[in-house]
Amino acid sequence: SKKSGRNCSTLFQDEMATEAAELLKLERDISSAIFKDEFFFVLQPLVSSVTMEVTSAEALIRWQRDDTVVPPNQFIPFLEESALIIDVGEKMLSKVCEFLAQMKSEKRLPNSFKIAVNISGKQLSEVNFIEKVTNVLRKYQIAGHYLEFEITESVALDNLKDTIKKINELKQIGISFSLDDFGTGYSSLSHLKDLPVDKLKIDRSFINDINVDKQDENLVKSIIQLAVNLGIVTVAEGVETVQQVNWLKENGNMLLQGYYFSRPILPNDFIEKYLAPSTE
Ligand code: C2E
Ligand code: CA
Ligand code: CA
Ligand code: CA
Repeated sequence: SKKSGRNCSTLFQDEMATEAAELLKLERDISSAIFKDEFFFVLQPLVSSVTMEVTSAEALIRWQRDDTVVPPNQFIPFLEESALIIDVGEKMLSKVCEFLAQMKSEKRLPNSFKIAVNISGKQLSEVNFIEKVTNVLRKYQIAGHYLEFEITESVALDNLKDTIKKINELKQIGISFSLDDFGTGYSSLSHLKDLPVDKLKIDRSFINDINVDKQDENLVKSIIQLAVNLGIVTVAEGVETVQQVNWLKENGNMLLQGYYFSRPILPNDFIEKYLAPSTE
């Protein structure tokens, strides 16, 4: 009836108003979170499928918003719409370098160890990105080979020529590159050979259905073969079960990442758990 229709739309308008108010609050909170330095990172290990040793870690951002820890899906997309992602991304890189310096001083930084940092498109396309990276490495006295940058297909293909040029310059100072969420973008296969990335991360959605969906298994097999042909290291992300681990071990020499091994944990806990003091 007309009456219930009106009720419905009033309810809908109320909901919209609430959502708008929440969005506005989020916007204000994020801006002040940057000032108050409420962002931090957690680390998740990457494990060799051959030796089962931890070779590196991925840094993942978190937001301490009052009593709750907010995951990136709830604020990164928002930040990416504005220039704020640049500030936050820089701050993350700085925090990771500061932590690497701490590891170094505690003699818990093996020479071959790396921390991978997610880099958004807006950061990479900044004209002075390389200069900023060089400055933060110098500030903390950290060699470039301790860092890896994770970029997504869409970012890499956005301005292919410029991306290739920047990747090559950063590789010259030792930073390696990883192509994130591989398989979820649109036909980047033809461009992959032009991208000088060191690693290819197979998206979690494909790893999920190993031992369930033969088609996904075949897809993963062909991605692994593709990486082998291009001389690129494969990373399987979102590994959750022992069945997935066994299947992946049988299908190649790669890196494994996922809850099966560890959830992302606080940096100091990561050191305690995975990196014994050494003289390296
Ligand atoms: P991503 O780069 O693909 O990161 C992997 C995500 O998968 C992480 O979610 C991680 O916690 C989660 N994950 C790892 N293992 C498993 C598993 O076995 N099962 C399941 N279900 N999930 C797993 P998280 O930390 O919530 O990050 C989400 C996304 O936010 C990241 O996806 C990345 O795109 C973005 N992000 C995180 N940190 C940063 C950052 O510092 N800068 C930028 N620009 N983006 C970031
Ligand atoms: Ca990533
Ligand atoms: Ca990923
Ligand atoms: Ca992702």
